[in-house]
Amino acid sequence: MRQKLISIFILIYIFLCGCNKDTVSNPNGNKNINSENHSTGNSAVQVHESTNIISSEARPFDISEHTNGTNLKLGVSWETDKGRYAILPLNNSSYNIVFFDYALMKQYPLCNKPNCSHNGEDCNSFLHNFEIKSGGNLTYSPTETHYSRFKSVFMYNGRIYILSNNKIISMKPDGTDRTTIVNIPDKYHPESMFYVDGKFIIEASVYTQNVDNKHEINSVTAFLQLDISKKEVVELSKWEHHNEEPSIIMLGIFNENAYYLRSVEGELMTESTQEAYDRARNTAKRGVLKVNIKTGESETFIEDQLAFQFDYVNFIGNCIYYHSRKDKIMYEINLESGEKRGLITNLEGYCGVTTIVDGKLIYYINYNESEIEKKESRSPGKFYYDMKTGKTQEIKPISGGSEAIVFGRYRGDYLMKTSESKDSFQIGRISKADFWAGEYNKAKETFTFEFKDIKNILFGGLI
Ligand SMILES: [Zn+2]
Repeated sequence: MRQKLISIFILIYIFLCGCNKDTVSNPNGNKNINSENHSTGNSAVQVHESTNIISSEARPFDISEHTNGTNLKLGVSWETDKGRYAILPLNNSSYNIVFFDYALMKQYPLCNKPNCSHNGEDCNSFLHNFEIKSGGNLTYSPTETHYSRFKSVFMYNGRIYILSNNKIISMKPDGTDRTTIVNIPDKYHPESMFYVDGKFIIEASVYTQNVDNKHEINSVTAFLQLDISKKEVVELSKWEHHNEEPSIIMLGIFNENAYYLRSVEGELMTESTQEAYDRARNTAKRGVLKVNIKTGESETFIEDQLAFQFDYVNFIGNCIYYHSRKDKIMYEINLESGEKRGLITNLEGYCGVTTIVDGKLIYYINYNESEIEKKESRSPGKFYYDMKTGKTQEIKPISGGSEAIVFGRYRGDYLMKTSESKDSFQIGRISKADFWAGEYNKAKETFTFEFKDIKNILFGGLI
């Protein structure tokens, strides 16, 4: 289940990043996304002139420049001032490290070896996905094959680091001088990685002896700390949760506490009565769970039985952003001060915050209650909340109706998909002011990509 949820998360990530033909083209984009109610719904907004947030906006190009007390979630791509590194599947069992060069607007495997086919161990960009060798003593069925699927890439002190297949690899930005600096023991199965308060924290499932063939799932999570200079990984604590939390996703860490999105289904409804419905609702566990990474002790942080989708809550900087369907409010919970305030009110439907970029909080309105049953629900509406002025505004779709996606920053501008046709689409540089104003026609230096040529290119990740 955990794996499944993570896969869903990756799919969502890919969807947001629009990294294949289907998602880039998004031919079903519906332009009528409740725009009357929300695009300029400023009357419904509480204005806050200042905010306490130590925001994760403008993620640093080199993580060592990031010295304030916030948390960064590390994943399969990392942007620098020259382009974007990404780990992309080559086939079922292996990956390539690729670099999308913003100056050339081209993506290539991170390998400069002549005549290299980039699919073997001697290639700088090649990552093999080995099966974890745990002697069958897994908490899952011993016959299942397990790969450590989680991967991350980041730049630190001028070098690229990659977590893949229980190894931490280091290389120069051009892919040369590649070495393995740490082997994480096989019993750990990395699930996510964060950079918090100058420390690298890896969340890992722990494989333990499968007693009596009982199907225990992810019953133990370990928090590991990676020390790059000492080239070692140490275990900080174990959190035992005995089958109780099969669907949890770590959102972030603040002050030695990890915050988890918790989504445990309630009792199955065997009959369609009010009692059965109430029972299902009351036995569900949804909200946010707080776990101390030094002691492994856990407690409920937010409880919300109405929460349905997993993207209604997000952790950015030192704040948790949380949409309550009951209150129809997007809350900001500042973990430093404990202050909880409503940022956006009268926000109906299923909503979620994805990120903060340049002082703008990006949020989606997915659909309303009445639309869940509909066969063709509308595509999500995308909006931003200006943290300075408190105003909300729609992020207009591009011409043709597809979502406006910014996938990077280059020389002070954004890189965004500006238009598309049946066979190709264009990426252009646009000034920040023009982007937020929705004046996409002012984009300059556009590059055309044919869909048939862009297999596995990562377009997205910023807005
Ligand atoms: Zn190669």
